[in-house]
Amino acid sequence: MKKRKEYAEGEIITCPKCDSDDLDYSEAPGKGKCQSCGLEFEVKTVAIWNE
Ligand SMILES: [Zn+2]
Repeated sequence: MKKRKEYAEGEIITCPKCDSDDLDYSEAPGKGKCQSCGLEFEVKTVAIWNE
């Protein structure tokens, strides 16, 4: 199942599963791996605006 979590501007990206900030981004931009629980996840930029 695909899950997603949104982060507010300026919010530090933490592991969506265990909330650890010990993340490894070295594999590819936009991909993160949690060093704590081993979860791999994609990080995407989202644009939100009002018109
Ligand atoms: Zn984790």
